[in-house]
Amino acid sequence: MKENNNVYNSVLQLIGSTPLIKLNKITEGFKGDFYAKVEAFNPGHSSKDRIALHIIEEAERQGILKPNDTIIETTSGNTGFSLAMVSIIKGYKCILAVSSKSSPDKIDMLKSMGAKVYVCPAHVKADDPRSYYEVAKRLHSETKGSIYINQYFNKLNIDAHYKTTGPEIWKQTEGQLTHLVACGGTGGTISGISKYLKEQNPDIKVIGVDAYGSVIKKFHETGEFDEKEIYPYRIEGLGKNLIPSSMDFDVIDKFVKVTDSDSAHTAREISQTEGLFIGYTSGAAMQALKQLNEEEEFNEGDKVVVVFPDHGSRYMSKIYNDKWMEDQGFLDKDPVISSNIEYI
Ligand code: PMP
Repeated sequence: MKENNNVYNSVLQLIGSTPLIKLNKITEGFKGDFYAKVEAFNPGHSSKDRIALHIIEEAERQGILKPNDTIIETTSGNTGFSLAMVSIIKGYKCILAVSSKSSPDKIDMLKSMGAKVYVCPAHVKADDPRSYYEVAKRLHSETKGSIYINQYFNKLNIDAHYKTTGPEIWKQTEGQLTHLVACGGTGGTISGISKYLKEQNPDIKVIGVDAYGSVIKKFHETGEFDEKEIYPYRIEGLGKNLIPSSMDFDVIDKFVKVTDSDSAHTAREISQTEGLFIGYTSGAAMQALKQLNEEEEFNEGDKVVVVFPDHGSRYMSKIYNDKWMEDQGFLDKDPVISSNIEYI
């Protein structure tokens, strides 16, 4: 059967080529035009499908992976889900060490995709033997025929976005974009896209989104790793308590920090204004866009692309749950959703 009839050999052929969707209402009154790169349209519902496929296929090309070998990774959930999905199709086992901060739905999803999951405490230092980095390293050394994806220190993470997401955005905007706004976790997304875009046009401004409680912004500005910047926060997948080598600081112009509460409310606002049901870091990226607009970063005629990394279904027990929002103390503002249910 022909592929152009929307028929595919496997789900892996649907990775990438995600849509760019204009933001109309949430950006009302902003200067410029705003477009979201909606990565929830990947089959694993996040941008991490791209790196999972790219890193595994690169290992296959180098002859490192044999049938029935094991893929091991530390992950806040999305990378794990994508690795599990690619492993199923390609016939590998998948072992994942995840943070206890990950939502219960995410952990159940990993299990459903056939992965073996180890849940590790979130608030320990990276070099603690219980941290998900150390647990993954140990499992890798104990498991014969295994590869450790190590997304925070793997340049192929940047490469995946350099080869796919960057060129897609360039083509979709016909080379007209002026700004890119994207979250920084491992840094792979923003670094890979930026590297490609700045090669096409060095004037494109690239702005990273970071969390309060993360060291990334301060490190970018001062070169200093400041432990005082580190404290617990709620957003999963944004910012870090270490400096990842998969973040290329040279291709990022500046960072903006956003709060847990603002990001959660803005995520809810995106569904209510644009009909896009997206995840917590998409709310963070949109919140950064709002702050940048207030700081008059944008001008009339600018074309701004913001990356929305994943789908809202992964946060049903968190930002889309009023009880969770209340427990975090986030409902001091008017809740967008809770007033919409009537029980008869
Ligand atoms: N959003 C979510 C939901 C994520 O899981 C991640 C990855 N940790 C990011 C954003 C950040 O992307 P990157 O790792 O490419 O910087």
